[in-house]
Amino acid sequence: MSAGLQVMKFGGTSVGDADCIARAAKIIAQGAHERHCVAVVSAMSGVTNRLIEAAKMAQTGNGSGAIAVMESLRAQHESAMTALIKNEEERARLRKKLDAVLAEGSRFCEGTALLRELSPRTMDTISSLGERLCAPLVSAAVKELGLQSEAVEATELIVTDEFHGGAEPQMEQTRGKSQARILPLLERRIVPVVTGFLGATPSGELTTLGRGGSDYSATILGAALDADEVIIWTDVNGVLTADPRLVAEAQTIPEISYREAAELAYFGAKVLHPKTLRPVVQAGIPVWIRNSFSPEKSGTKITPQGQNIRGGVKALTAIRDVTLISVGGPGIVGLPDVVGRTFSTTAEVRANVLLISQSSSQNDICFGVSSADAQRTVEALRKEFAQDLDHHKVEHIRVDPHIAIVAVVGQNMCGTPGIAGKTFNAMGKEGVNLIAIAQGSSETNISFVIEEQSVVAALRGLHREFGLHKSAD
Ligand code: ASP
Ligand code: MG
Repeated sequence: MSAGLQVMKFGGTSVGDADCIARAAKIIAQGAHERHCVAVVSAMSGVTNRLIEAAKMAQTGNGSGAIAVMESLRAQHESAMTALIKNEEERARLRKKLDAVLAEGSRFCEGTALLRELSPRTMDTISSLGERLCAPLVSAAVKELGLQSEAVEATELIVTDEFHGGAEPQMEQTRGKSQARILPLLERRIVPVVTGFLGATPSGELTTLGRGGSDYSATILGAALDADEVIIWTDVNGVLTADPRLVAEAQTIPEISYREAAELAYFGAKVLHPKTLRPVVQAGIPVWIRNSFSPEKSGTKITPQGQNIRGGVKALTAIRDVTLISVGGPGIVGLPDVVGRTFSTTAEVRANVLLISQSSSQNDICFGVSSADAQRTVEALRKEFAQDLDHHKVEHIRVDPHIAIVAVVGQNMCGTPGIAGKTFNAMGKEGVNLIAIAQGSSETNISFVIEEQSVVAALRGLHREFGLHKSAD
């Protein structure tokens, strides 16, 4: 049954207004003619941010401000509906659905305003309303093209743990639920349009997978339904050799391996949520990144092995909003548990640790975290090491917020000598000061820490050094 199944995900910009939704619906319809197709959609672009603002407004007691956001969302979705859906009956049905979702949102905002308290659980409910508004709209747009379609809320499909705001899927249960709900629809030639971003705990409590999590939803469902492929429709041509806003010569990479793509996502290339590839690795399901605004372009195919290219370096990436934290001083030399305690603390606060470097003199452990995670990480570390700091066993916990991490990525760098030399040579030529360096033993990337202001010079210098403008588009 699942032979010939593709899961297609449309990001916020790909469903950003009526025209975009019409385009997405066409792509879905075409896909559904060729084989079975399950669509996964994000909220219309900007909507999740506004919902989060509304939730925060409510938290400060400003319930009417939050309700005003709900009303503006109603207007936005109704206007898209009016442009897209001609059938009166379908409009009435859709309006009822949108009303119900918005009423739920308003109730949660009112409750939050009353209590002036915003739990992660309520935040999940409010922030995921955008997907629940969008999926019925996209589904109706697919019907408008003469296909059968049904909007499905992922609370019915994706089972997660209870970590609100960044929940992890439980694949066995997700598989059972997804197949039971989706396969009968496909058998009846009904195209399911599923809400991205959200799931539910085994007891049915709504959770979200983290910002940008709809990509993850798509691959979770791809794996759960044994799909042939997952296509992430977005607003760029694929995975590029570098961020084109920073490096004008950046090129689309035709094929890239899971490892390389994950490395790029992890190091801040915005095309994929970092967890996206996890669910599909075991089954080896290919994932495409394609541009819904230029569907004629073939995009980037992410495969288990990728494609060998000479030189080994595939792409460059940079994360800018990084904070470097260092724990150390001569006092930690020989203290056996500092490393362990440091990273169990970062794990406890679920900080996203991007790079770790420790010199062999053991004077200093330094690591980079997303700046969003920095404050709570530092607070937790100060608490963990309070006694040691008092007794000068640990001399300092230092924080530097103005840094960036640049990574040179390529699976086949492994075994190609001279990449590190070329990298640091290029930095020397550009006059970029290196603060810390890390290369994993997997040799899929060389990453280094520099001052934030040097990012553009570093990327341009490296792009030139490795001849990345010559990759085939
Ligand atoms: N709408 C959610 C967000 O903006 C999920 C997504 O777009 O992937 O984070
Ligand atoms: Mg998104």
